[in-house]
Amino acid sequence: MKLYVAKEPGRQETRAALLPVDAGKLAQLGAEVEVATGIGRAINVSDQEYEKAGARVSTDHKASLGADMVLRMGVPDPDEIPHLGEGAIHVSMLDPFSNAEVIQALAAQKVSAISLEMIPRTTIAQKMDVLSSQANLAGYVAVILAASRQNKILPMMMTPAGTIAPARVFVIGAGVAGLQAIATAKRLGARVDAFDVRPEAQEQILSLGAKPVKIDLGQTGQTKDGYAKTLTDEQLAKQREAMARQCVQSDIVITTAKVFGKKAPVIVTTEMIEAMKPGSVIVDMAVETGGNVEGSKPDKEVQHHGVTIIGRVELPRRVPVAASQMFSSNLYSFIEHFWHKDTKRFLLDREDAIIQGCLITHAGEIVHPAIQEAIA
Ligand code: NAD
Repeated sequence: MKLYVAKEPGRQETRAALLPVDAGKLAQLGAEVEVATGIGRAINVSDQEYEKAGARVSTDHKASLGADMVLRMGVPDPDEIPHLGEGAIHVSMLDPFSNAEVIQALAAQKVSAISLEMIPRTTIAQKMDVLSSQANLAGYVAVILAASRQNKILPMMMTPAGTIAPARVFVIGAGVAGLQAIATAKRLGARVDAFDVRPEAQEQILSLGAKPVKIDLGQTGQTKDGYAKTLTDEQLAKQREAMARQCVQSDIVITTAKVFGKKAPVIVTTEMIEAMKPGSVIVDMAVETGGNVEGSKPDKEVQHHGVTIIGRVELPRRVPVAASQMFSSNLYSFIEHFWHKDTKRFLLDREDAIIQGCLITHAGEIVHPAIQEAIA
């Protein structure tokens, strides 16, 4: 079975979907692995290293797209889709709720498209969980970015020249990214407060040495996968009121509050930003799904009333070595899990709960019920 690891044409992508170590492991399983030339350039991994691991290097991207299985980081360009083979398997992060046209084109091409973000968050699938591995790094990068834009230091310093108080960091949303942001800000010495609508998050916030902000929002609820549900307008108004008090005291605010498959709630309003101290920094990690912060813009840094609002997308691209390592390992684990040792082929087992969770298109149809509904 031929596997082709594609490079993202004309984009800012710095990560490689597969590293030589995992290419070698796939070759050992009996796969014929081909990688796009220069795929590891941004992380200083040469074509020769892939060749040494047992992969072939392709200089003919269009021809290689005709492989049995195409692996990559993200969404294919519309002009790449006609080059995918009928019945081929395409594996990447497809962001399927936001890319209806691409999903429809993949279905029309009769490609079996797997969206790695949709892998169910079960214990068995943990090693394939790209959402967690990339969100973890994004949480780290968010704090480093915010610290680099601050005109203050984060830790407390007691010196003969006086005592400097620690910076205050407020993290809104304590999922994977938020918890890593809390841990990173704590390691840098900041005083950290955090809030999440899921009551279980309080214990996790405390375990990292941060202070949970308590608000009684009544019933908030979560899905069977542990995702938060959308708040009612009244709940959101109550939350904003409490967040406003916290934001005024904070030097850095990191927002990560997302609702899976839906638009993110606006939590930090312009009025709240205007009440913050000049010099404060906000990082809106939900900017790609609408944003938690009024006025934040994808891939822009905006100044409002002396407050810097950072809306960078794809934060893991700023740490591509670790991000590639984790993604590649997730990808290998996914393929290995469904690899049929005798036929030496990836088995698209439609009875399996993991495949059911992440298979978006198959045999000319959109087969995932939630994506079907979203696109309809
Ligand atoms: P996410 O990126 O969808 O959202 C980030 C956080 O924002 C979540 O914690 C969510 O509760 C919170 N949020 C949503 N609306 C909010 C609001 N109005 N105010 C404040 N916070 C708000 O979430 P995620 O990081 O992908 O994690 C989602 C869940 O999945 C968590 O329960 C996590 O523990 C769980 N998880 C399980 C596994 C596993 O078992 N394999 C792996 C990873 C994550």
